[in-house]
Formats: sequence, structure tokens, C-alpha cells
Amino acid sequence: MDTVTVSNANLLDYLNDPSPRTLGRSPLEWLDRLNKPTVVHVAGRDRSRTRAMATLLHGNEPSGLFALHRWLLEQHTPEVNMLFLLGGVYPAKIPPAFSSRQLPEGRDLNRCFKEPFEGEEGAIAKAMLAELRKAQPECLLDVHNTSGTGPAFAVSITNDAAHQALTSLYTDRLIMTDLRLGALMEYSEQEVPTVTIECGGAQDDHAHQLAYEGLVRYASRSDVLSLEKAEWNVAVLRNPIRVELAPEATIEYRLEPSGHADLTFPPDIEHRNFGIVSPDEPLGWIGKKGLGILTAISHNRTENMEQVLRVKDGQIYPAQAIKAFMITTNPVIAKSDCLFYAVKATGEPIF
Ligand SMILES: [Zn+2]
Repeated sequence: MDTVTVSNANLLDYLNDPSPRTLGRSPLEWLDRLNKPTVVHVAGRDRSRTRAMATLLHGNEPSGLFALHRWLLEQHTPEVNMLFLLGGVYPAKIPPAFSSRQLPEGRDLNRCFKEPFEGEEGAIAKAMLAELRKAQPECLLDVHNTSGTGPAFAVSITNDAAHQALTSLYTDRLIMTDLRLGALMEYSEQEVPTVTIECGGAQDDHAHQLAYEGLVRYASRSDVLSLEKAEWNVAVLRNPIRVELAPEATIEYRLEPSGHADLTFPPDIEHRNFGIVSPDEPLGWIGKKGLGILTAISHNRTENMEQVLRVKDGQIYPAQAIKAFMITTNPVIAKSDCLFYAVKATGEPIF
């Protein structure tokens, strides 16, 4: 036994072809029985090949685990061997279940898939990568939920036929990014096509259903990497900019500005997700501080906000036709993460 196996045995639990009795009747019962990040192996018809799927890297994003629980209970025989990696079991188990993204003092597991693998999350990420190297999967999916409601989309660092074909198992939108953050999808760099799937909101039944239907397609097809077999035509959005709000700025979601906030968006702003917004369509209202409270960031570089948004009579308009997505109506996320992402209406980068 080599050292990797010895240390992984402490960090991870293993389930081989789990029976319905092991799984419990509901995903919550199963979560109760999970004690550690867990590796699930299911033998396929073709035992010479393996496909991998990670999920629950964020403990409050349960669609992938719900889908896997349902799929395992149904006792399918997949086309090829399946390797499932359940990452954030510890945060997911903090009551109320599936409400914590990460441990209170812990790190975001999906930022830990790179050297130096520090702390407990770094060790878990390293152990998961060792499982992938051992299994040598032909491809890898990482299934998440978005923070808002919004439609599903995929994210990858590569845009080729294999990545588009994987995307098309779940959705017709692929965001390609050159940003490197230590996310699991960067496993693409190991020549294994890897796509992150954002199924939609964590509370959204449609997201759970999509996660399940996508898993059925992923596990049952003989070929998931050729575009000829693809489910949908995939629209590729390249290198979106992140629009961030200054930490001290205030935001409100109202039909009209109250005059107290630096930025006001209408409560239905989420309906703008993935639609094209033309330069004559207002997005919201800006306060007295103007656009200075917003930052546009592309590939880790700060850009000129006025090339993205313009202000006229206190209202904000796109400076050119844009496609915006991951728009949130949660003020906590708007302030701690970002307001939205945007590309040109054509899908090309703004900068
Ligand atoms: Zn996530």
C-alpha cells in the first residue's frame, strides 16, 4: 500500500456499488450516514472505461447529491464505470443540513485544487485528485447550484468539442474562462475534459430534476464526448467580466429608488439572466456616488467601468449590448461575491 492510499483512507470513505439499504430512504438520511467526504464506485457494463462526477464541493448546493441518491436507489448499471466524489460532507452536515457552503473557519473547497493543498480542505482536495489519477476517467463533471434562481449553465477553462458535448448533457450555455482559481474544473489541464455544471438555484426543484436527468444521460450513453451526439447546440460565452460592488456601498432591490442606496436594482432583475440587454434598456438606478462604487474585473485586472455601464438621469444603461448572468437579488452575495457577470451580446469578452 502506498502512502497516498494510507492517507486517503483517513480522509475519505468509500462505497462500492452501494445497496438501497446503505443509502437510506432520502438524501437527508444518506447525508446522516455519511461521515467524511466519500468516494462512490459503480461498476459499468464496459469496465475498461470510467467517467467521474464530483458534487457537493459546496455544502449548500445539494442538487448533485439529490440526483446521485435517486440514481443509486434506482440501481442503474451505467455504460462505463462511474466514480463519484462527494466533497463537502462536513459543511453539508452542519444543521440545518445543506445550508453551509463551507466550515465556519474553513476554506472554499473549490479553491483548493492546487498547490500547496493547505489545511483540511487542501488535504481533501489533494485526496480527491489522487482518486482521479488512480481511476483515469475519460471525463469529469463537477455539479453545483447557483446562489440565485436563474437558469442552468456550464463553466470550463477549455472550449472544444468534448467540453461542449459534456455541457450539452445539461444545458446549452457554456462560459469559458481563463481565470485560474484552484477550482476542480482546472483538471482539464490534465487532458481530461472537465466541465462545471451550475444546475440552477439550490432551492429549485427544476435544478434537482436537471441534475438527475443530466446524470442519467452522462451514465447511460456510450459516447458523451462527441458533438455529433450532443443534446443541444451550445452557446459559448468567453471570459466574462465580473461587476463588483465596493464593500462600503449599499444596494437595494426596489421598484423605485428610495434615495438612500448607492445602487438600486428592480426585484425582478434575475429575469435578465442570459438575456441580451441593449444600450437603451435601463438596468437600475445609481446614487449620488455614481459608478465609482462599481468595479469591472476581467482576468484579474480592473477595467474601466464606463465601457460597461453608462449613467443617464440617474439610471444605469449598458454602454453596449451585453449579456449578463449570475445576477443576484441577494444583497449579501451581491456585496461579498459579485453583482453579475457580463459579455458582449455576441458572447465575446467586453475587454
Ligand atoms: Zn458551488
